[in-house]
Amino acid sequence: KYSGPSYEDVVKIRKDRLTPNIIAHFKKPLLIHHGKMQWLYDHSGRRYLDMFAGIVTVSVGHCHPKVNEALKKQLDTLWHTTNIYMHPKIHEYAERLTAKMPDGLKCVCFVNSGSEANDLAMLIARLYTGNYEILALRNAYHGMSPYTMGLTAHSTWRYPLPAVNSGIQHVMNPDPYLGIWGGAHCRDSPVQTTRSCSCDFECKAANEYYKQLRQAFEFSLPRGRVAGMFAESIQGVGGTVQFPKGYIKKAADLVRANGGLFISDEVQTGFGRTGEHFWGFQDHDIIPDIVTMAKGIGNGFPLAAVVTTQKIADCLGQALHFNTFGGNPMASAVGLAVLDVIEEEELQDNALEVGTYFLKGLAELRDRHEIIGDVRGKGLMIGVELVQSKDTKAPLSAPHVSQIWETCKDLGVLFGRGGINGNVLRIKPPMCVTKDDVTFALDVLDRSIAQNTKHD
Ligand code: PMP
Repeated sequence: KYSGPSYEDVVKIRKDRLTPNIIAHFKKPLLIHHGKMQWLYDHSGRRYLDMFAGIVTVSVGHCHPKVNEALKKQLDTLWHTTNIYMHPKIHEYAERLTAKMPDGLKCVCFVNSGSEANDLAMLIARLYTGNYEILALRNAYHGMSPYTMGLTAHSTWRYPLPAVNSGIQHVMNPDPYLGIWGGAHCRDSPVQTTRSCSCDFECKAANEYYKQLRQAFEFSLPRGRVAGMFAESIQGVGGTVQFPKGYIKKAADLVRANGGLFISDEVQTGFGRTGEHFWGFQDHDIIPDIVTMAKGIGNGFPLAAVVTTQKIADCLGQALHFNTFGGNPMASAVGLAVLDVIEEEELQDNALEVGTYFLKGLAELRDRHEIIGDVRGKGLMIGVELVQSKDTKAPLSAPHVSQIWETCKDLGVLFGRGGINGNVLRIKPPMCVTKDDVTFALDVLDRSIAQNTKHD
């Protein structure tokens, strides 16, 4: 039973004592008391189906008993050594985690957040290649540290200060829905439209966006050289944007041919979420040079990692590089338990099966509601773009999106929200979610749209 400060006191403390940048979802933000698997309970005991999982972070379920048990055991054994002494957990975990990676990518450095992981990846790319320039896609989110603020390419996340990091260039986002080339048929998703693709051998959209990328090498990179390129496998904060088939592979080849490393940001797409594969980059048929991961890796515990090859990692040996909490015994114990649970409960398979069921249900809603412009994603990494009309694709107004989103909350389902216009519902639940939960969520979304959209 909830015994903390009253709802009103919490609201006041939040306003008076916490910096105003923290994001509050909903007009009357929820005061969450506890969580159990795919469910969250507020201070009054009301239950919500959590379809956003603390922003794609709770991978195996809130307070999963096996993960909790592993953490409790570690709490009573050893909290901390800062890695100046050896402790078994980080070593056991390094072996288990890298066993999930393709050949070659076997060297890991543990940190505490996705931003730190991407910071380190950027440092490694520059040190290893001797080049400085870094490429990233517009509409990407890679973090909020000074380095990664420069990588993130959304005006919403930009302060009016001089460029937070020199040497970063953003290239055209290969977005087959809002961009000028492509369509739903260019994406690797169970909800491709039935319209058949007119491309002969290669995806035309992938080629066109690739040409844009090539221009960065021709016109704006010094001697056409680059230290690296970052890309998410499916953009998360940017609104579940899936790239046209083949683009990422071509981009990775081009970057390597020009002296750089390809860095896959798997902070949202890793650990089985996309269903078919354990890592999102496998959907693009590439093996990156560096992979960064966070969020789902720890099911909500602060834990993140950078994985690369031994040869590339060797560049870090030329100086000391230190992280007090990276790979601490508690985080490592949690990371190990998360991997166990994903395997034992076959959560990757569940993400594929339940996610595909979800996507198909959403595609039916899309066919019935004019304001659902697009449904996309793979596994349990799903986006629903709300528009004024299917023809114009103009974003549904912010108040209208809010009404739909708030009504879903009132009916007991929590969705996320994102995209450059804030009009994409982001659906990324804990991977233990069931088909029954999905049926319920689909019904709630259907009702909410009907209730809030008069001439639909
Ligand atoms: N990369 C991606 C793809 C992310 O979604 C995020 C967080 N939303 C980050 C990096 C940064 O992670 P963190 O907030 O743990 O620093």
